[in-house]
This record gives sequence, C-alpha cells and structure tokens, in this order.
Amino acid sequence: MVRFGPSGNDIKFYADGNKSSVDAPRWLSAMGLHAYEISFGRGIRMTDKTAEIIGREAAKYDVKISVHAPYYINLANPESLEKNYHYIQRSLQLLALMGGDRLVVHVGSQMQMTRAEALKNCRESLQIILNRLKAEGFENFWLCLETMGKYTQIGNLDEICDLCALDPMYLMPTVDLGHMNCLAQGKMDLQRVFEQLKPFSQVHFHISFIEFGGKGEIRHLTLSDNKYAFDLMTVMQFLSSRPDNDVVICESDSIMAQDSLKLSEFYLQKKKEV
Ligand SMILES: [Zn+2]
Repeated sequence: MVRFGPSGNDIKFYADGNKSSVDAPRWLSAMGLHAYEISFGRGIRMTDKTAEIIGREAAKYDVKISVHAPYYINLANPESLEKNYHYIQRSLQLLALMGGDRLVVHVGSQMQMTRAEALKNCRESLQIILNRLKAEGFENFWLCLETMGKYTQIGNLDEICDLCALDPMYLMPTVDLGHMNCLAQGKMDLQRVFEQLKPFSQVHFHISFIEFGGKGEIRHLTLSDNKYAFDLMTVMQFLSSRPDNDVVICESDSIMAQDSLKLSEFYLQKKKEV
C-alpha cells in the first residue's frame, strides 16, 4: 500500500494533548496514517535516545519514518562538501535509529554559476558522498533528491531524474508536486510527470498547494485553499496505477495530518475504481 502521512506535527496533534514527536506514531496510526516525515531542515537537534524511542513507536504502530535533511546543504558548492557530508551522515544515523531509510535532500542552488556548472558540481559531490557513505558501512538508505519550487534552485524534474540515474540503488526522486506546480506557474502537466516517473519502482512524494510568484515558490497553503491548486484526483489516478512502494507526505500549513487523511481518502477512492 502507498503510505500517507504528514511532515511535522499538525495543530490537532497538540490540541489532542501530545507534546513531542515521540507521540506521533501512535497518534498518526490511530488516524489511519502510516508515514511520518521529521524535518531537520533548520538543524539536527535530535538525540540518539529520542530517535530510538521514536523508532520503537514507529515499529509498534507501523508508521514509516522519513527524514528531511538540513535546507542549507548545497551540493553545487564544492567548498561545503565536508559539511554537507556531515549533515547527510548524521541525518542518516538518526533515520536508521528511527527504523527509516528515506532521507529527503535538497540538492542545492545555482549561486553565481551557470546551470551546467552547478549541475556538474552536484553530480560530483553526490558521487563522492555516496562512495563515502558506502565505505563507512551505510547500506540501507535512500537519498531522495527533491524537486524544488524556485528557479534559482537546482532540481526541476528532468534534473532530479538525471541525478538519480547516477546510482539507482541509492537515489530516488522526492517529487514535490506543489513545488513543480510553482515552477510551471500553475500549469503542471501531470501526465508528463507520471510518464517520467515510470522507470522508478518507488518514489517519495510531497503534496501540498503552494502559493507562487515570478520567482517560484512563496508559501505553503492547505488543501482547502484552491487558488494555487492542481487536480488531486488526477494525481491519485496516476498514483493508484503505480507500484505500491510510494510514500506520500503532506506538507500543508498547520493541518498536514488532517490533509494527509484527505489525500489518503482520495487515493482509496481511486484505487477502488482501478
Ligand atoms: Zn524539501
């Protein structure tokens, strides 16, 4: 089954009396959700002990954990390679303690380089990082390279698919449909997107509606905010004909778990029709 779940904690999670992410697997599974993404976007502040507890809870309640690596990773910048490696390696250690294997990574930004130069650097950095992780004994992991929402960032779908081809045993796309809709200025071609994903037997999805402007992404909205919407039923239609290994993480503002549940209901509806 495709798994659905939120990134981070819903306002309802706190309103229901929960205090920390340790409580999330139980709360999510009671709602009927079976995935949970924990963000280290602004820094990695979790202890090993907390990760172990979350891992135990996640196994008990059958919730699959993924982690989002720090936003400041930039694989296009060779000077920060050492730091980037450290962020990825530490994120993977905690992810493993939580029993998960998917680490979402933002590839980087173009900075003052040409697009081709930046991409070449990303490719080289990725190769070095993968070799080093494997040499250090990291085996069961996926780096899920994310499609981004601003034009200055590396990671439209073509670029992400190309980068993932570097090592299909360790790299898969995080297809952020909200971001892609920003890049397409609201005219995302879902048929083409899912066509391009066919070679991948598993994909990590991020779904939310995102406000955009001339430079791309501005801010995350909720699914009831339809000014920047795309057609979720079409998404679910394509998703329901893919292999069952996909994970769909909802990144709505504030009500990400409640919106996840909506997504999973849409999916089940489509799945019944197939
Ligand atoms: Zn992201």
